[in-house]
Amino acid sequence: MVEESHCAKIHCDKPGTYAKPLCYEHWRDFDRFYIHECDRCHRFHEMVGEFNEEDEPQLCFDCNRGDAVEVVAHGPVEHETRYLYILRLNNGKFYAGQTDDLEMRLREHQDGSSRSTAGKAGKLVWFERWYGNKKELDAEERELNRDAVRAPWSISRMVIEWQRPLRLVDLNELSVAPPGPTTN
Ligand SMILES: [Zn+2]
Ligand SMILES: [Zn+2]
Repeated sequence: MVEESHCAKIHCDKPGTYAKPLCYEHWRDFDRFYIHECDRCHRFHEMVGEFNEEDEPQLCFDCNRGDAVEVVAHGPVEHETRYLYILRLNNGKFYAGQTDDLEMRLREHQDGSSRSTAGKAGKLVWFERWYGNKKELDAEERELNRDAVRAPWSISRMVIEWQRPLRLVDLNELSVAPPGPTTN
């Protein structure tokens, strides 16, 4: 195993480290599913042809051909997690958005620094974690916002369904006293 000092994308000379194996450009490519990690040499490469079956190893061209390739040691590369969310605004309307930092984004909605909802902040009523494909996420967000105008009842239904299991959770039961000095 060699520990790469440059980007783990095949033929890229930009710097990379164990913890951050891909240069920014190739990390973006990875996040958009343009490149994939080879299951044998752990370098990243463009997909050749079709996706294999889920349980078959994904191999780069070199490994697929049986060439001897140095195996690259690096930490896991994660897809960016984004959140798709729905607010119920103060005017009663729904608003869908997406962010990579839900808490921060909600604060922006609340303090009015988000222009899209300024003056009608509203409450978070639904969210979903989203891994990977940004295009699909954009399409989903657009569709939710279309429904928010044309078919708000369908959003209501979705929110109610999503919240149903939460009603079973007793939040009071979850509070735990902070550790303090033990008295005997
Ligand atoms: Zn690179
Ligand atoms: Zn390979």
